[in-house]
Amino acid sequence: MVPATKKRVLLDCDGVLSDFLTKALEIINTTAMTNFQHAHVHDFDICESLGLPHMWDTLKAACGEKDFCLNLELIPGAQAGVSMLRASADVYCLTSPMSVPNWAYDRNIWLEKHFEITNPFVVHTEAKHIVTGDIFVDDKVENVRVWAEHNPKSLAILFDAPYNRKTEINRANVVRAFSWDDVVKLSNSWLHPNMLPLDKSMLYTPPPYQRIKW
Ligand SMILES: [Mg+2]
Repeated sequence: MVPATKKRVLLDCDGVLSDFLTKALEIINTTAMTNFQHAHVHDFDICESLGLPHMWDTLKAACGEKDFCLNLELIPGAQAGVSMLRASADVYCLTSPMSVPNWAYDRNIWLEKHFEITNPFVVHTEAKHIVTGDIFVDDKVENVRVWAEHNPKSLAILFDAPYNRKTEINRANVVRAFSWDDVVKLSNSWLHPNMLPLDKSMLYTPPPYQRIKW
């Protein structure tokens, strides 16, 4: 039984723990005979972003193949970062399942294999905002915005990616992390404010304090 006082960190999977984008681009480039890179994906909808909306059916079908989730690579620094977060909090994965066969089952196996995040610590839902925690990390702007609004006393971290740089979230409890080092630093500052005050330059505040150049 988890003590009620233990801090809780909620981590998205794709784009935070697993490198979905690289795999998706492999599939798209192979099928469409293109050479798109990460920087070309400027919106969360990958296929729309690349001007290839018809590729969605192909990509979705590939995502439903057995072992797709099992073969995803790790986001750099994620394993060490999760280990460090565990020193201060219980770590949960909060992941929105794709509506295809094998996805959720394989995801659970992958999370346990790479992060020792076992089934009781995995929540499959699109309604991430209903899950409470001290810190929430996600790469989708809308998820971060909605979760931060529903959890105003907690910290929401937007994990930087090419597809989430167009939108600014002006909320005092939202920050952007450029790496897993940032996630750990921001999380420790939030969880242990007396030891490590939060670097205010990393908060989403109006210029000239805004760290991101939009
Ligand atoms: Mg994600």
